[in-house]
Amino acid sequence: MQAGHHEETPNALKASMERGGVPQQLQQEIIRLSDFHTYPAPGVLIGAFMVDYAMELLGVTADQKLYGVCETPKCLPDALQVMAHITTGNNRLKIVPIGKFAITINAASEDATVEAVRVYVDLVKLKEYPTIDVWYANSPVFDKHTMKGKLMDEIFTAGRNILSSERVRVTVHKKKKWSSVTCPCCGETVPDYLIEGDHCGACGSMKYYNIV
Ligand SMILES: [Zn+2]
Repeated sequence: MQAGHHEETPNALKASMERGGVPQQLQQEIIRLSDFHTYPAPGVLIGAFMVDYAMELLGVTADQKLYGVCETPKCLPDALQVMAHITTGNNRLKIVPIGKFAITINAASEDATVEAVRVYVDLVKLKEYPTIDVWYANSPVFDKHTMKGKLMDEIFTAGRNILSSERVRVTVHKKKKWSSVTCPCCGETVPDYLIEGDHCGACGSMKYYNIV
């Protein structure tokens, strides 16, 4: 953990949530989420409100089998994982690296498409919250050494007020049938639908290591 991450103590987080009037149950979720993420990053704090809002709009709870799409790999996936149990490991989380702070959640469905709720950070609404606005824009005006506390307070004061939502339809991805194929290059096996021509991804376009 980097030294800077210790600046927000658990007490500072709790006090900031209290000042913002964050409901107790959501506070508990935010503490769990911050622990999972290793520190209360602004992106995960906003993400907590996004997931909470999306689930309420969809009328679902984390006990249900939910699916999600996250439009950025930064921070936001952890809110889906911790609060909605939509994880990379259970294969219900798809990360589409569009670079927007937005999520889509839907319930399980047997149909080809299903109604989902998309929640996103609304740039117009953000104008009411100048510190979040400059942080979100990655503006040089945002000084993380002096403005982090103010940013956290603004995030908890704003809550859902910086978010907008829309009803959308998304494609339901069926589980693929597959068989195991041995790569002639490395001798390891992969599912047939992941083979690249005559070799596996590690021997091809997804090579990421060299044997030492
Ligand atoms: Zn291979």
